[in-house]
Parts: sequence; C-alpha cells; structure tokens
Amino acid sequence: MKVTKFGGSSLANAFQIQKVCNIVLSDPDRRIMVVSAPGKRTKDDTKVTDLLIAVAKARLAGKDYSKEIEAVLARYAEIADELNIERVMPGIEVNIRKICAAAYTDDVMYLDSVKAMGEDSCARLVAYYLNASGHKAKYCDPSECGLYLEHDAAGKAVILPETYDNLSHIADEEDTIAVFPGFFGYSKSGNIITFSRGGSDITGSILAAAVGAEVYENWTDVDNVFAVNPNLVKNPFPITEITYDEMRELSYAGFTVLHEEAIYPVFARGIPLNIKNTNNPSAKGTWIVSKRTHYDSLVTGIAGDKGFCTVTVDKYMMNHQVGFLAKLLEIFADEGISIDHIPSGIDTVTIVLRKKYFTEEKEAKIVGRIEKELDAKCKVDRDLAIVMIVGEAMANSVGIMARAASALSSAGINLRIVNQGASEISMMFGVSESYCSYAVRVLYKELFRY
Ligand code: ASP
Repeated sequence: MKVTKFGGSSLANAFQIQKVCNIVLSDPDRRIMVVSAPGKRTKDDTKVTDLLIAVAKARLAGKDYSKEIEAVLARYAEIADELNIERVMPGIEVNIRKICAAAYTDDVMYLDSVKAMGEDSCARLVAYYLNASGHKAKYCDPSECGLYLEHDAAGKAVILPETYDNLSHIADEEDTIAVFPGFFGYSKSGNIITFSRGGSDITGSILAAAVGAEVYENWTDVDNVFAVNPNLVKNPFPITEITYDEMRELSYAGFTVLHEEAIYPVFARGIPLNIKNTNNPSAKGTWIVSKRTHYDSLVTGIAGDKGFCTVTVDKYMMNHQVGFLAKLLEIFADEGISIDHIPSGIDTVTIVLRKKYFTEEKEAKIVGRIEKELDAKCKVDRDLAIVMIVGEAMANSVGIMARAASALSSAGINLRIVNQGASEISMMFGVSESYCSYAVRVLYKELFRY
C-alpha cells in the first residue's frame, strides 16, 4: 500500500484536485490520501491557512470577522462549483462557522482549531468529489481515527505513541480510498492541536508508518529536491536519491520542500519516501531512503537558515570544573529551551539555539541564572545564520572543509562558528545573517563546480 500526501499547490483549485484524484486512481496501491489546505493559485494569492489565521486573529482581537470568513468560504465554493459538487458546501460551511464562532478559553487553542479547518474541509471536499465521480472514498476524522497529539514543554505538537496502533487499520477496506486531513490531531481531552506550518507532511509520515506502507509519496510542485535552494542558484543540481539522515540535516538548515519532523516516523520503520510532482507525475522524483544505492556527487546538498542566536558563557578554568556543563544545560532545560549546537573551547562554551524560542524574557531569566548560579560571564548575540554542507559521500574524503573555508574566506565571509560532527555527514558554519544566502551560493559554486 502507498500513502500519498498532496501539498497546498496540488489542491489550490478544481483543476489541480482533478489531477490529484487521477494520480491516486491510476494506482490501486494508492489507498490513503493526506491532503493539505488549498494553497496559492497564483504567486500573489493567499493560502487558505493564512485566510483562516486572519479569521482567528480578527475574532481574538474582538473584531467583526465576517469578511475574513467569507474569503475562506469563497475558496471552497469556487472549487465545489467547478467540480459540480455544490452540495458539499452546506456541510463545510456549517462546520467552519461553528468552529470559528465557538467559545474559547485559550487563544492558542482557538487559533489551532480554526487553522485546522483548511485541511479538514479539503479532505471532506475531496472525498465527496471522489464519491460523486463513482469511486469509493471516505473522509477520515482524525478524532474518530485516534490521531492523538500533545504539546511538549516548548509548546510543540508531539505524537502520542498509541496513535500508530489507532491508525493502523484506516485503509482496511481495499476498495475505498481513505482521505485524511493533514496538519492536525486531537489532544486526549478533545482539543484540536496543529503541527507547525507545513505539518501535513508529518501526518502523511505518521499514516505511512502506522499502516506499514511500501512507500510514502509526498506530492508537491517540483520534479526533484535540488542540491540548493533554486531561488539562490540557477538550475541547481537535482537530487535523485538522499538518505533520511542527509535530508534531516538539510531540512533543519532551511530546505523547505519537506517538513523537518516528517522524516522520523517513516525513518523509524525504514519506509522510503518519494517526493513527486503533481504537475509531472511521470518524473521519478527524489527518493529518501535508509541506504543510498548511488552517489551523484560528493556533496548532496547545501542549505542555510537565519534566525539563530548564541549564548556564550565564559569562565576561567572551566575545563577543570566537574559538572559545569551539566549545570549550564540544566538551566536551559529548566526553562524549556532546546539547544541545537554546543561548540566549545577550554574556558568558553557557546550554546546555539533558535531565536524564536529564546524570547527576551527567557534571555533575561537564563542569563541572570548563569551569572548568579555559575558565577560566569555571559554574552548573547542575536545575529546568526547556519549554513550546512551535507553529504554522506564526504566521509573519509579529504579536503572539503579546506575548500569550503577557503572559498568563504576569499568571498570575505567571516566564519563565526565551524563544526563538523564525527559522523562526517555534515559541516556547519555560523555566519552573520546578512551573509546567509551569499555563503550558500559561494559554497555551491565551489563544491558543485558549475
Ligand atoms: N496548510 C498548512 C500550512 O499552510 C499545513 C500544510 O500545508 O502542510 O502550513
């Protein structure tokens, strides 16, 4: 069995939805479909999820939100009209209005419930359309199916383990296509919880893992994942095959084609993931696998992401103090902050983390504790981008770090952090945010020699 997930651009209008249904119907193994909310129809269009966020924000601000909700309903009505399934609309409309008007006690929970309506309505519409065109399909309600989530200490949605068992039978009826809304699940107490943006990829991965799929097909609007962001470099090298580990590193550092958290569920069960193009289904796409069968190049990909900061802790004779690092890390853990990298020297240690989690309030608290409890000096810098060079074939090959560092230095880019894990699968450079894209271009030019 294959689990297919379709992104917003694959569902943006009636024509795209017809394409998606044809793709699913062309292969009897494609029995589970995970759908995003309709995305942009043109470059300047607005995604349905963003329209829903505008509804929720207006309501939370105590404003009239009728104009915003009409914009959402108009998107579905247009699709339904073009597919000749206008009868699906009353159900969708009642549902959206009910959720948007519901009483709430918590702003974040309310926002989550409204955001989820994009995917939920899309799944209802697609299932209805398949049935209306003479095929058996069912809309799957994540609450009835048991897709359970909870928030971790940092407020991120995490999957409850029983979810996998709960979902393992959703495609047991062989003649029926299960249409599942992406992006959200339910808490045990019945509240909607959404993943972060792009989270329908995670839903697809969970379902593929739950049913033990032969492959997880993630359908988007590009033929391949590219070795570098195609907005930065013209005609970049396509990636035909990549390992989960490589993809995880690249997603972390800014590859947006797949949500970073979508890799683990399929990775844990060794299920291959195939990224494919809805607009060109015959293209082979990019395969994400446990073990590569071939290497097209020494480096697989290069990515860069802004939005990091550093907390540098300075303490004379730090390396002689037993337990110093443990105490330092405990302070971050107590405050619910996760840490990304820890480059260190003998008397200094730098904690690298995402700025969005390290609010000014958290900064004041953590810095205060470090100075008081560890009697150490502490400096925060909020201008850091991370650039990663990733490739399993780099292991045991000599000179890549030298070439990369020399290319960056010739381009006048100051390296603030350099880090290479012992697995040799990636190299990380910390640079000022303003140099992020430039550094990626310089490295691509050097390492792919185009
Ligand atoms: N619709 C959501 C978003 O725009 C989730 C998704 O598409 O995966 O982020």
